[in-house]
Amino acid sequence: MWAGNTRVLVDAGFSGKDLVRRLQVLEVEPDDIHGIVVTHEHGDHIRGIGIFARRYGTPLYMTEPTRDACSKMLKGTETVHIYRPGRPFNLGDIRVEPFLTVHDAVDPVGLALVDECTGLRLGVATDLGRPTAQIRHALAVCDLLILESNHDEVLLHTSDYPPSVRRRIASSHGHLSNQAAARFAVELLHPRLAGVVLAHLSRECNRPALAAEVVGAALKHAGWTGHLEVAGQDNPTSLLDVEELRYLSGPNQLSLL
Ligand SMILES: [Zn+2]
Ligand SMILES: [Zn+2]
Repeated sequence: MWAGNTRVLVDAGFSGKDLVRRLQVLEVEPDDIHGIVVTHEHGDHIRGIGIFARRYGTPLYMTEPTRDACSKMLKGTETVHIYRPGRPFNLGDIRVEPFLTVHDAVDPVGLALVDECTGLRLGVATDLGRPTAQIRHALAVCDLLILESNHDEVLLHTSDYPPSVRRRIASSHGHLSNQAAARFAVELLHPRLAGVVLAHLSRECNRPALAAEVVGAALKHAGWTGHLEVAGQDNPTSLLDVEELRYLSGPNQLSLL
């Protein structure tokens, strides 16, 4: 997220080298990153945190159990700030509001990130086993939402994954399917929601077009006219300007409100 003079990364699941390449695509210098907020210790979220933090002196922000679970990636020379779910903290011009999620990690969180200069609110919720009342509340009034749309239920059940892995992904501590993401996105609709980015898609059990179709149809049916896109795995999503999205999409005529 880029707000005021502050640039923040949420997680760093790529290698240090790949992370730098992706930032370069967006014309962001690694030195310009003010902090990396880590949501949980799974490899696809922390692969690059240690090397990036050591090379560029970037502070890391994580909960205490997550720091302990990340010990293999850290050498003790990094600056690590500890935060707690439910306790907002400031990182430059950004207020970070961490909330607990339901996922099979030691202390998994989702984040709402608020631009202190404009009040714009970004919700980041990947690795959600299921939406809880607390998660709904935390994401209720976001201007932009990055939401997990992990798998297609049919592709998951017909995949080559062992049954135990399939059960884990589909469980209430695993990941949201396209269908579950669609239901949740509709629940989170409100007139100021300008954009939804679908993220954390499984390479094996999902297709970007399928996720966009399932979630897009549900949002459209509810009267939403905002910007929907699917984050790919190979290249960074281009920077989105919330005010520009709002201008382009025009007013929402939500049937649920
Ligand atoms: Zn995870
Ligand atoms: Zn993940």
